Amino acid sequence: MSKLDRRKFIKGMGLSLALPSVAVAGTYGKNYDPGGPGTIKAAEVERYRKELPSYFYKRIPAHRKNFIGTTQLGDNVVQFEDARTHAFAEFFMHGTNRDYTGKWGQAVKKAMDDRAKLTATFTDEQKEDAAWGGAITAASDQWHVNLGPGRWESIGIKANKLVLPAGEMTAKIKKVAKWFGADLVGVCEITEDLRPFFYKTGRTWGSLRGAPKAERIVDNGRDIPWPYPYKYAIMIGKMEGIYGLKTNVGPMNNATVATECSDDDIYPRYLESTIRSLGYDAKAQSMNGTDDFNMIPLAVQAGLGELGRMGMLVTPYGAHVRLSAVTTNMPLLADDPIDFGLQEFCKTCKKCAENCPSKAINDETEPEMIGGVVRYQLDPVKCMTQRATTGCASCAAVCPFTKPDNILHSAGRIMGRNPLGAKLLKSMDDLFYGVQPTPRALTSDLAPWKL
Ligand code: SF4
Ligand code: SF4
Repeated sequence: MSKLDRRKFIKGMGLSLALPSVAVAGTYGKNYDPGGPGTIKAAEVERYRKELPSYFYKRIPAHRKNFIGTTQLGDNVVQFEDARTHAFAEFFMHGTNRDYTGKWGQAVKKAMDDRAKLTATFTDEQKEDAAWGGAITAASDQWHVNLGPGRWESIGIKANKLVLPAGEMTAKIKKVAKWFGADLVGVCEITEDLRPFFYKTGRTWGSLRGAPKAERIVDNGRDIPWPYPYKYAIMIGKMEGIYGLKTNVGPMNNATVATECSDDDIYPRYLESTIRSLGYDAKAQSMNGTDDFNMIPLAVQAGLGELGRMGMLVTPYGAHVRLSAVTTNMPLLADDPIDFGLQEFCKTCKKCAENCPSKAINDETEPEMIGGVVRYQLDPVKCMTQRATTGCASCAAVCPFTKPDNILHSAGRIMGRNPLGAKLLKSMDDLFYGVQPTPRALTSDLAPWKL
């Protein structure tokens, strides 16, 4: 079987672009130096708070009956059956197979047609932007291809265990995770109430795996055992570059999301190998198809944030976060979930719904019971079609919590915790940033390919 033929898939999707024939004019000679140590991304990270003051949020008990953190559940939560029916997997499987049947096949076809129409209007500069953005995104996605199930060789579990009290071990492993580069780390215990969020069948091909020409991909899936063989999940959050994301759609937005997404393949594997080298079983979980569960409920349980209207995790630092995990039997202490008032705030805010270009996010005030979870309706077909056409993370970009750290934003985060304050915070956000915030322009301090 050949490796992923993603280039052909992208070409088939109409996403590839001829490079403009005119080179960028300039006087950048052979000794051009883009600067000393540090990157644009690193500069963005510096703008974040390093610690979350306890007055930003309150801790609430874990594993309350009919709750995951602040998200209410019904008595019968519908279990996630098959990771192969996940929107992302369906979309890319249909695309790679050139299968334009059914709702996902039609969504792929629509994205190809819309993309072709859009690119026909591009200037030379926009073509070059799209070429760079597409290349960086492809470079990032290649990690998903090469680290899919069965591709990664885990380090052996060392016979000599490092034995420490659970509290001390947890503190140290969290610090090591941050040292490797994780931005947020929390631990949750994998208990029976989390069973519905584990798939029964996992993917084997990953979301972007290719197949020989003219041969359809068949993903036979893999059983995910229950009782689950690991007791804890260490949940890892990586913050996406805030300003690249705030281009809302397009090549820089796509590249920003994709690189953090592929970083999510790397960080849990650092941690997996570290834990196994310390004598404990561990398994990296990331979105390349090795994930055994939906990350969001476990991240909520581990205290990283709350479930937002747009169906993603919103942290007190913002919604521009990618999730991965390591499951392990290392003795750890689980964290408690947090409540920073998001459930009430989302009822007032609706900013993600108002700014979603495909109208995929419901704008009703109250959430509803969907599959046993109280949340807002989201149309995954509309969302995936938009993302494949233009690249999109507008919902995360415009969320009032997606802000760098300063005294005003800190005050806003506290204010938004009660219904009256929520209204005021929404009005202030609309006043300063607009009901529909203007996307950031693709300037050289955002896009690494711009000089
Ligand atoms: S990613 Fe874009 S299309 Fe999808 S829900 Fe968010 S705003 Fe809408
Ligand atoms: S944009 Fe507003 S409504 Fe949407 S998730 Fe963020 S806080 Fe909630």
